[in-house]
Amino acid sequence: MTEYGNIGSICTTLQCERGLSDKIAMRWVPVDGKSVDYSFSDLEQGSNRFANVLIALGVQPGDVFFTFLPKLPEQYFAFLGTLKSQVICGTLFSNFGEDALLDRLGDSGASGIITKKSFLRKISGIRDRLPSLRFILLVDADEDISDSVLSYRRLMNAASSEFNVRPTTPDTPSVLHYTSGSTGKPKGVLHRHGSVATQTATTRDILGLKADDIFWCTADPGWVTGTSYGIIGPWSLGITQVHYGGGYDAQAWIDLISRERISVWYTAPTALRMLMREEETIYERVHLSSLRAIFSVGEPLNPEVITWARRLLHHEIHDTWFQTETGAIMITNRPGLPIRPGSMGIPVEGIEAVILSDDGRPQPDGEQGNLCLKAGWPSMFVAYLNNESAYRSKFRDGWYHTGDTATRDGDGYFWFRGRSDDIINTAGHLVSPFEVESALLEMEEIAESGVIGAPDPILYEKVIAFVCLHKQFPFTRDLELKMRIHVSNMVSSIAAPQVIIPVDVVPKNKSGKIMRRVLKARYMGTDTGDISTLEDA
Ligand code: AMP
Repeated sequence: MTEYGNIGSICTTLQCERGLSDKIAMRWVPVDGKSVDYSFSDLEQGSNRFANVLIALGVQPGDVFFTFLPKLPEQYFAFLGTLKSQVICGTLFSNFGEDALLDRLGDSGASGIITKKSFLRKISGIRDRLPSLRFILLVDADEDISDSVLSYRRLMNAASSEFNVRPTTPDTPSVLHYTSGSTGKPKGVLHRHGSVATQTATTRDILGLKADDIFWCTADPGWVTGTSYGIIGPWSLGITQVHYGGGYDAQAWIDLISRERISVWYTAPTALRMLMREEETIYERVHLSSLRAIFSVGEPLNPEVITWARRLLHHEIHDTWFQTETGAIMITNRPGLPIRPGSMGIPVEGIEAVILSDDGRPQPDGEQGNLCLKAGWPSMFVAYLNNESAYRSKFRDGWYHTGDTATRDGDGYFWFRGRSDDIINTAGHLVSPFEVESALLEMEEIAESGVIGAPDPILYEKVIAFVCLHKQFPFTRDLELKMRIHVSNMVSSIAAPQVIIPVDVVPKNKSGKIMRRVLKARYMGTDTGDISTLEDA
């Protein structure tokens, strides 16, 4: 019996029952080599096999399993199969380093992980601190490497392609993404199977996907856009998706859109700003006639990008705003709506958004305040794993506080103003200053560190580290490089500081908290404001 409440079944079994078994679900386009097509029937069988693999390994509903892979077809079978088995599926960015992995795998008590041989080193380095991690699956090993490092191919070949999904309710836990905080460890944002209702509705009504569309979402599955719109939304509607194995490459991207006849493209402002910097001739040689709509998410979309796209791509770019916690698009400059460049647009149907002051009063139009959403939409997160108090602190009087500041104009359009915390948004990825500071402090040369974000014309924000060295170590170019490599290896390459500034002291308040506001003002050459609480003020 088909289990229609389960995201894994909705994206596969239901589509086959709708007569789409032979329709291409995923065209996998590797950087080198030939593309491979997977039908909905292939997705159904592959995910069933994977669900059987997990069950045979003794994983129980409610346990946590992670994918830690670059974009590869196996990632999609594993994700959907994990959900079918009612195991919670966490996804990890392939560029995460050891500390980042340890925090996430440790906090969630993950039972297993799927990865590839070249990433194994990062997990082996922390494995003795992960008592719950019982097995590691390798997508590129023909044979098992040990009793607990197992060959995905061998297990999949031996598994049945039939699987009976157990009854799944809207509240059955589904997907887990870790999101960075400005203090403390990353928080595990837990979603539920019922989130598919908002993901399907927004894919249909906002992205406007129709049966014959070919959709390309550039986001990595390690990020909520990569799961909500790179997997769940489109496949829940039986839409063909292209998944490209490479990273940013202007010519390759433009050729891909043209060759694969992409009709709807979902990407991010940093990528668009990078495309804007390319020679205009690359757009002249190709026809982007298949494209119907372009969407963007993750960071503020500056008006220059919209003007550029109108001139060169002959398209509007429709901004969308959402967060890991919201699970789906909440505010958008949707097609059909007159675009106000620089604004995020208006709330999607069924979502109520307001601007509240710090003491919870609605702000008049044009006045900056906290962007809040009326709690209770289907894709709203259900927990920060193991952190009930942090979860509760996000809700006040029935409003979910997003942590963003914004204004609303008289016509109901929302304008992003910034974050109300110290989190850095670099190229659409939230980076925790705390995680970078902690990684730097692991180095013997560093006594203190303070990390901030500063404006960048391409990345929106770049990571700036202030470091105070122990007396015996001089600040050299080699040491700078060592710091970048260390943060890359421990946190992620995205978090590696672009600028490192040596200082005699890192300013702290009387309770020892790093005053990032002061560091930022110093870097920007602006007023440091009230520094009366500074340690040595
Ligand atoms: P994440 O939870 O990693 O998806 O990051 C969510 C955060 O990214 C939001 O809280 C915003 O700060 C930022 N963000 C996402 N979309 C937009 C957008 N369209 N405009 C401005 N900021 C955005």
